[in-house]
Amino acid sequence: MNHPSLPGHAFLAQRVLGAKPSATKEMTRLANQMKREGRDVIALSQGEPDFPTPLHVREAAKAAIDRNESRYTDVAGTLLLREAVMRKFERDNGLRFSPEQIQVGCGAKQLLYNALQATINDGDEVVIPTPAWVSYPEMVLLAGGRPVIVRCGASSGFKLTPQQLEEVITPRTKWLMLNSPSNPSGAVYSQEELAALGEVLLRHPHVWVMADDIYEKIRYEDTAFATPAAVVPELAGRTLTINGVSKAYAMTGWRVGFGAGPVELIRAMNLVQSQSTSHTSSISQAASIAALDGPMDFLPGFVKAFRRRRDRVVEVLRSIEGLSCDLPPGAFYAFPGCQGLLGRRDKLNNLIATDSDLALYLLREAGVAVVQGAAFELPGHFRISYAASDEELEEALRRIAVACAELR
Ligand code: PLP
Repeated sequence: MNHPSLPGHAFLAQRVLGAKPSATKEMTRLANQMKREGRDVIALSQGEPDFPTPLHVREAAKAAIDRNESRYTDVAGTLLLREAVMRKFERDNGLRFSPEQIQVGCGAKQLLYNALQATINDGDEVVIPTPAWVSYPEMVLLAGGRPVIVRCGASSGFKLTPQQLEEVITPRTKWLMLNSPSNPSGAVYSQEELAALGEVLLRHPHVWVMADDIYEKIRYEDTAFATPAAVVPELAGRTLTINGVSKAYAMTGWRVGFGAGPVELIRAMNLVQSQSTSHTSSISQAASIAALDGPMDFLPGFVKAFRRRRDRVVEVLRSIEGLSCDLPPGAFYAFPGCQGLLGRRDKLNNLIATDSDLALYLLREAGVAVVQGAAFELPGHFRISYAASDEELEEALRRIAVACAELR
């Protein structure tokens, strides 16, 4: 029987009962639990750089503490940080904004959440090309919307085609969520590809674009970074461009993300934020100014290490019979196809029917935590985060190869 003070299902909201917890966090939790039980587990399930935050950023945070910057800030973020964000958008993306067009939140995640809460009415549709970050569909559901999943497989480079977009737009479509470089596939949209999607969107003026550019700085090709509002300026009046310091500056725990878009949208998002978190930490905001305005000389080292790890991970995955793996041009994930292993059995005769079975098998048998493709709405794959040390990756790959070879 339930404890009388514990909420039973009848007490919880339908929209919460209908949402799933984050599969990446769930896999990491399982891995941590096994570690506590004494198992040797390598967690490649979470996406965060393993580098330290650059020294000048840490120093700026300490200085802000010593200046006693310990008060509430503007809901939208301090003016100084919003001005640094404006400089970043102009410098890196050729996008010009005013301070009223910028919101700073607790990570890029809160920007996505605020925007959906501020705009979605019951039953509104949000187009999500997949594989996509696990949180997109759940955030849409929590806002009362309907995620419209469009599966984009390896044959199209895991990218949405203009034809697919045209086919799914309805009068209820509110947003297209685009993430480049992508978590989990690492796919990067080119200027031309965004322009072609833009042509479709220009024919449907009621559809807005949420561009999640959080992995902008983690790319391995020499092409210029493309973001929708810059590639198709006619779309800027209905685009929210989201970015942050988490991935580029190894600052996941500092919780600072930002977004820029039309004033009316940002105003509505500020309303949502004012009634939830108010704003992110004043100290983190001060540190983020130093990050955005400061030297970027550490970045080539980050990208070089990620590239080395990516090349090694893809090389080993491709050598495993039953797996296939494209070379991801961005982010720090590999997203191999595992259809070739499905239908096989492990030593105890358990059937590995799905990518979820395979992910649990790798955790149980090899002590390596990966995340099933189903969590990203593209089954038949799994995601490995290679934001881990070279030593951990080598050992994890060795174990994955052995475990896969044991399937019959
Ligand atoms: N968007 C994508 C695609 C991500 O993968 C993540 C983090 O994993 C985020 C947004 C959230 O970033 P932040 O830590 O800034 O909230």
